[in-house]
Amino acid sequence: MKNGISYKQNKIEGVFDYILIGSGPGSLACASVLSKYGKRCCVLEKHYTAGGFTHVFRRRGYEWDVGVHYIGDVNRPTTLLFKIFNYITEGRLKWEDMGEIYDKVILGDEEFHFVKGSENFKKEIKKNFSDPEDQKAIDKYIDLIYRASNASKGFYYEKVLPNFITYFLGNKLRKKYMKFASRTTLEVLQDLTNNKKLIALLTAQYGDYGLPPSKSSFAMHAMVAKHYMKGGSYPIGGAGQICASMLPTIRKGGGEVYTRAGVEQILFKNNRAIGVKMEDEKEFFAPVIISGVGYFNTYKMIPNWISKKIQWKKNNLKMKRSLSHMSLYIGLKGTTKDLGLKKANYWIYPGDYDHDLSMSKFLDNPEKESFALTYISFPSAKDPTWQERYPKKSTIEVITFAPYQWFNKWEQKEWKKRGGEYDNLKEKYSQRLLQQLYRVEPQLEGKIDHYELSTPLSTSHFVNYDKGEIYGLSHDPPRFKNKFLKPRTNLKNLFLTGQDIATAGVSGALVGGILTASTILNRNVIKEIVSK
Ligand SMILES: Cc1cc2nc3c(=O)[nH]c(=O)nc-3n(C[C@H](O)[C@H](O)[C@H](O)COP(=O)(O)OP(=O)(O)OC[C@H]3O[C@@H](n4cnc5c(N)ncnc54)[C@H](O)[C@@H]3O)c2cc1C
Repeated sequence: MKNGISYKQNKIEGVFDYILIGSGPGSLACASVLSKYGKRCCVLEKHYTAGGFTHVFRRRGYEWDVGVHYIGDVNRPTTLLFKIFNYITEGRLKWEDMGEIYDKVILGDEEFHFVKGSENFKKEIKKNFSDPEDQKAIDKYIDLIYRASNASKGFYYEKVLPNFITYFLGNKLRKKYMKFASRTTLEVLQDLTNNKKLIALLTAQYGDYGLPPSKSSFAMHAMVAKHYMKGGSYPIGGAGQICASMLPTIRKGGGEVYTRAGVEQILFKNNRAIGVKMEDEKEFFAPVIISGVGYFNTYKMIPNWISKKIQWKKNNLKMKRSLSHMSLYIGLKGTTKDLGLKKANYWIYPGDYDHDLSMSKFLDNPEKESFALTYISFPSAKDPTWQERYPKKSTIEVITFAPYQWFNKWEQKEWKKRGGEYDNLKEKYSQRLLQQLYRVEPQLEGKIDHYELSTPLSTSHFVNYDKGEIYGLSHDPPRFKNKFLKPRTNLKNLFLTGQDIATAGVSGALVGGILTASTILNRNVIKEIVSK
């Protein structure tokens, strides 16, 4: 499914209120809100299809998701996230609940389940940890992740306030959340328990934000754990529906989403953003420019003569990129039932009970050591429309982290023409990832019809993150201290949106989109959505 219309085949015409660069869920959510307020938005996307990491691709009669496997907090109409999605998609996006078990965790040879609902979750985890001290730690842990998430309100509210107010009130609003955000996940969990196995289990979703416990901010961990605590959901019709369901909202406002529309530079006059220059040198103008392509990519688009760019350069030094990954896209002949597939994802770890150690062992010796983490998702099993759309077929995605540096010697080579050495390396990793799949689903051995591996170079090629990073900026404690990660920039008429000004994840990017629209419109959009 391709979303958006091609810039190569369709002229951009007329006057737009806003130009948005990039079509990730953050930009699309922002454009949808602005459109609902009668504004005309022009969304420019470099890739051949819109949606950012929510796009899907098709090959050999199969369809795979690139960056959506499950989304939390949308399986009840009372949640804020459900209401936001409902508002921007005008009710077009529907969700399929993943059932009681949303994640299965394998630590060495043992299997554990993450089940829906905080009380059920506690009960299920406690079954495996009978020591009363561990049981107390589990209770305290759940309490803490809710407290951390509740503390985030002031932190996000501060991002939309005008600078003169944040100057006086900013630290006060951020303080409560920063208590959680400035500590690592490991530090916080070690306050609760010394049981390494329990810590390893409770942090088993660290792949959702890309940093092991000693490096990640507890705020990010808590946000993700709470996000899925009431279960996971999947967009009915596949991840491509996230973008498809926002397009009519944007079009109703007179806007459009153009694909194959790479932006080269943001144009300025007297330090004010006034438009964009495309890769084909054409120029388009609007009173406000919104960038949803990440902080580092936005920096690259600002000309060097802009004096305030120096501050951005200094800011760059304060941030790291998130990790990169390899994903094995698998196609199988047979239905979910034929193949015995379930909706729950797998998180597979070696038996170290120490994710940091497993990660450093793997990075030091990738040939010999086990993958630090393997994640497996069964998209076709999660989508009730799949069998209608792809009869008698199924799909699986198997993912692991992999540094960009392993592949950078091929970065100048063209996609699909990177040569035998690259293909052999990919084949070696593909086989290892298949073995991980067979470990947990042995019935699939011999049933694979097609597989292909993406590397960090693929991510860089298709989604334009320089080092193939999957979650934009790294979610370590210093990230949360950076007050410049908000919609308003120090350059007049240039705004940011998407995951880098909030957090990774479709919901994080969506929140980014709402924050940006709120800032630009100078309205409390969330309050208005809730009241509707
Ligand atoms: C493997 C993987 C699995 C994931 N799984 C989940 C999951 O299960 N659940 C979940 O909630 N989240 C998941 N995520 C994270 C989620 O997909 C992202 O956090 C989210 O999509 C980020 O949205 P964004 O709006 O910031 O923009 P992005 O999705 O990052 O999109 C940015 C867009 O900008 C475009 N662009 C870049 N440069 C230019 C330019 N110069 N001109 C024009 N366009 C440009 C890019 O092509 C891209 O389309 C996953 C991500 C990955 C990679």
